[in-house]
Order: sequence, then C-alpha cells, then structure tokens
Amino acid sequence: MRTTPLAQIATLFLSATVLAAQPGWWMTEPIRLLQTNLRETDSTLDPQRLIQQVSEFPANTLLFNMGGIVAHYPTRVPFHYASPYLPSGKDLFGEVLKAAHARKIRVIGRFDLSKTQKPVFDAHHEWFFKRVNGEPAIYNGLYSACINGGYYRQHATVILTEALVNYDVDGLFFNMFGNPGADYSGNPMGPCQCEACKQRFQARYGRPLPTTTRDADYGEFMAASAREVAATLAELIHRLRPGAAFLTYIQDHTDGIMSESNTAVGRALPLWPYSASDNVNRARNSEPGKMAFNLRMSFVDYPWRFVTVPPSEIQLRLYQSMAHGGALALNMHGTMDQEDRQALLAGRPIFQWHAAHEDLYVGQQNAARVLLLRGDSNSYRGWFRLLTEQHIPFAVSDNLKWLNGASRTCELVIAPSGAPAELDGYVREGGRLLIAGANPPALPVARVIERREHIQGSWRIHDHSILPSLKNTRLLFLDGPCVELAPLDKPLLTLVPPAMFGPPEKVWVDKQETSIPGLIFADLGQGRIAYIPWDIGGLYYRHSSMGHAGLMADVIDQLLPKGRQLKTTAHPLVEVTVMRQPGRNRSLVHFVNLSGHSDTAYFPPIEMRDITVGLAQPFRSARAAVLARKLRVTAEGSYRRFTLPRLNAYEVVVLEE
Ligand SMILES: [Zn+2]
Repeated sequence: MRTTPLAQIATLFLSATVLAAQPGWWMTEPIRLLQTNLRETDSTLDPQRLIQQVSEFPANTLLFNMGGIVAHYPTRVPFHYASPYLPSGKDLFGEVLKAAHARKIRVIGRFDLSKTQKPVFDAHHEWFFKRVNGEPAIYNGLYSACINGGYYRQHATVILTEALVNYDVDGLFFNMFGNPGADYSGNPMGPCQCEACKQRFQARYGRPLPTTTRDADYGEFMAASAREVAATLAELIHRLRPGAAFLTYIQDHTDGIMSESNTAVGRALPLWPYSASDNVNRARNSEPGKMAFNLRMSFVDYPWRFVTVPPSEIQLRLYQSMAHGGALALNMHGTMDQEDRQALLAGRPIFQWHAAHEDLYVGQQNAARVLLLRGDSNSYRGWFRLLTEQHIPFAVSDNLKWLNGASRTCELVIAPSGAPAELDGYVREGGRLLIAGANPPALPVARVIERREHIQGSWRIHDHSILPSLKNTRLLFLDGPCVELAPLDKPLLTLVPPAMFGPPEKVWVDKQETSIPGLIFADLGQGRIAYIPWDIGGLYYRHSSMGHAGLMADVIDQLLPKGRQLKTTAHPLVEVTVMRQPGRNRSLVHFVNLSGHSDTAYFPPIEMRDITVGLAQPFRSARAAVLARKLRVTAEGSYRRFTLPRLNAYEVVVLEE
C-alpha cells in the first residue's frame, strides 16, 4: 500500500513518540556496574582479561574511561589527546567495548571535559578558567576549562561526535561537570573571571560578575551554566546514539542521576551511615523516570586512591542502593588487579546475590506514603534518620512532582526547614503537612511575632495526651534559633527562656514561664498543618535526644490520616523500605541491618531475630528471599503480618498480592 507524504510524516512522528516514551535499558534491566577509573598508564591493559574479570565478578555494566583529559582510543580531533601510554595502533576503548558487548556487558564511556593540556590553552586561552588574579587554574600540568568557554560549549561536541559515531556505547558519563569549587587538594578555585562568564553573568543578572563565590547568585549561575551545557550534550548523545544514556551528577537533561557515597579524612563527624539510601532515595523520587547510580567509592580519600574503606561500609552502601531501587555501582581506581582487595571482596557476594535474583531489582518504585522534602543539611538528616529509625517508609524529593503523581499516594509531607508556598494547594485539598525549623513558612499557619537567633532554653510540655512518647518528661531542650509565634489558648509546648544554670545552688532560681508556643496545629482548607517553629531535625541529628525523637514521631502520628503504613518490632538500626514492582504485581520489603555501625567504625552487623512486620496493604503470601523460606501471613484489622525469623546483613521479603 502506498502512503501519502502526510501519512509518512504521521508515521514518523508516531514512531518517534513511541521511541521517546519507551524507557531506556537503564530503567528496564538489572544493573551491576563496576567502574575501573583508569590512569593514563593503564592504557596497556589487556581488554580480554579485564572483561573476563568484570564478567566473572559478576558485573553486567562497565563504566570505562573513554576521553576528555585522556583518550583511550586513537582520536583525530584537534585539541583532544590519546593517552601517551596507548601503544601505537591500539584502540583500547574499542577493544574493551567489543569484548564487553560479546559478553552482553553494557559499556558507559567516561569523559572528563573539565581539564586539558597546555597546547589547548596556548591556542585558546579564552576557553579556560580564569582566576580572580587573572591566572589560569593549573593542576598537575592540566588546565581547567570553564563551563561557559568554547571548550565545553563547542569543542566538546566535536570530541563527542567522533566518539559517538565510532563507538556503539551504551551511555556516556561526565565527571566534574561544571566548574568545581575547589581543586583536588581542596584549594578554592574562586569564581571564574573569563570573558564568557563575565558576559553571561551580566546578561543574566544585570550586574558585573562577582569576585567571590559567596555571592548570592553565583551558585545558581554555575548550576544554570551546567544545565545549558547538559542540554546540548543530551541532544547530541540522543541524536547520534538513540539508545545511549547521558549520565552525570545533575538531574536536568540526564537519563540517570549519578552520585557518590564517598569519604574524606577531613570531613566533619558524625559519619552519615545513610549516605547511599539518601542519594538513591532522593534521585529515584525526585526524578522517578531516571535511574540512580550511586557510586560506592572504595577509597578513603584522594591521597589514598588505592586504600579502601571498611568492607562492611562497602556492603552497607550496596544493600542500601538495592533497597531503594537504584543500580549496584562499585568504583575502584585503576584496574581490577588491586593491591588492597578488600573492596572487591566485599562487593562480590552482593553482586553475586543480585545476579542470582535479578527480577527483584528491576522496575522498583518507592511505595511510601510520606514525602520528605530537602532542607538545611542537618535538619534534613535529622528527619531522615528519625523516619528510618521509626520505620516510617518515606520518599525524598527535591521537587514536588510526587504530589501530582497519579500512581502515588502522599498522605504527609515533611518540610524540615520551612515550607514553600507551592504546598498551599496540596494542603487545602486535604493534604497533611509537617513544617519544622526557624524559617517562617510561606503558608498561613500562625501569626509570627519575631525570629530569635539563638536560644538555649527549654520547652515545657503541657498536654501529654497527644504526645504519648513524652510521658516520662515535662521538658525538652532548645539550642538554636526559634520563630516566636502568637500565644495559643491551649498550648502544647511553651518556651522556658534561658535561666541561671550554675552553680547548682542557683540553677533555675530565676526561671520564668512564657506563653510562646513550641508546636501548633492549624487547619487549612480540607488539610492540616503542624508547625514546630525551631530546628528539631537539626537538634536530633546532632544530639539524638529521645525527647526530640518522641515529639517528632508523635506529631507525625497526629497527622497521618490512616495511621502508620508499617508497624514492626525491628530495632531502630534496621532500615526497612517498602517498594512496589507494578510490572510483577507485587511488593518488596527490604531490610538493611546497620547494627555494625558505631562511631567511625563499620563492622559486620549483629544478627537480629523474630522481626514482626505489619503492613497496611493486602497480600496473600510472603517469601524471604535470603532465607529462601515462605513466611506465614496473618491478618489483623487492615494490616497483614509476617515474622522474619532471622536477619543478618540484608533480607528482602516478596509479597504477592
Ligand atoms: Zn568562565
């Protein structure tokens, strides 16, 4: 049958639409990724041997160095240089790609466009980062390119076109995407002063480019610059290799969101034991259509690239990635022939488990009914930890897409440090909202008198009936800022301002009570809001007071319209996630045992026994995959229950509907 030109166009349009609607391999396949972050001296490696090691690990995706600072293939593009250690006539990347594809291993090419060699700078100094003192930024002989300069904005497309035309890659990953704030030694870079930055900043903000990165607009300027380049690269990759993924550390224009669970010796304590959960939960639920690749960095810190962190830390991160619906991803520096083998030995049994149970790790969606928004780092982490310890399933999002997702149920939104006005409609239509922090919320909650910068006071508890977790105390502590709200008729908490605390004979002799509220509930439209006008999340993160934990949990329970989604006897150090696999019509309950973590140490976790779980959803059968055992299901009201007899490091219970 002949078709008219119009019909042909319609068919083309339809197939393009169908193609665009189909999720990429990174969303439909189980991913076990190894990154061998090569040095230029590794150009002589044996591709067959490497791919055999990757295959036997067993990984099915390899993140492998391709180009940018050093190309591991013979490039013909000017100002792009092959590794000086690449033997003449050898195409390392091409051989690795061929050997990998022969074993059905996906290959993601790694580029780093942030730095290049002196001849490029000599020919095009305008492409490069310019310090405030006018000097280029040079590190180990390499010159930093500026995200707004011609190297990133134009020449990168020439480099990438050659790579994409010649190599059937499954994706490209970009390291150091944008202008970093500091070099590898931690020295601040300052704001780039190149002509391109000057012109773009002036055009965007109507004022000259600042000379300090503390400028209010500079961070946003840099993020916008990276997004613009990302849009160009995404278009190029998708046009030249329609099945390939564009991956880097940002959310916009990418197909997957990269992140790292890394360590640094100078980083402030405490350690963040939920690093991988945080990164994967946030990525998957901020952009549900994108995969989360949280790279488990195996090394201690940059100066010790070949020395690994504790094996139990590696394992914990990998279990957390699986439990939150992300890819397994383990990084090592150099080849797989490591001098310190602990990271690979720790990761291997988890990769083996994943390979033997692939169907569990495809198409997972978070089934939580509570949404945690981001906020100040400590406040956010306090709420993140509290929800995890209380076994209240939650999703994290950088945006409010979750509120409008037809397939998802959001019963409660928690805003750890103030709430944006966009939540107004959600609450008025019946949503529940918990706001904390000393930033007056943008919603009409209560009359604000003033913001107090720092108070070392206490909260008096008046009504234990709705705060049952606080039955053994009448006081909580406050250390930090607070928003003073107008007094209430029936206060739940009121402020006890600072009073004498020494010597003991004088403690609280001058104490006064006030009517300044520390917690209010308010109705708005069909919905309900609770506001805790001080940084309870940040305080809990730093001090773990059971009073703060009890208040946070009780306020959540007051707001949840149908009670807890999950009830369990699990220890607070057992992380429990509830995921859905819509394609398989079943749910998964993951258990990650964190009991091996203490202070700066990660040891193998302590075995837990007889963990009872009640879930407010129907299911007929429960099967513990690690124990390879069916569990008895009982009913109690709207909850279905099972008991997990034993938990070591990890378990996943499959619930069939
Ligand atoms: Zn610049």
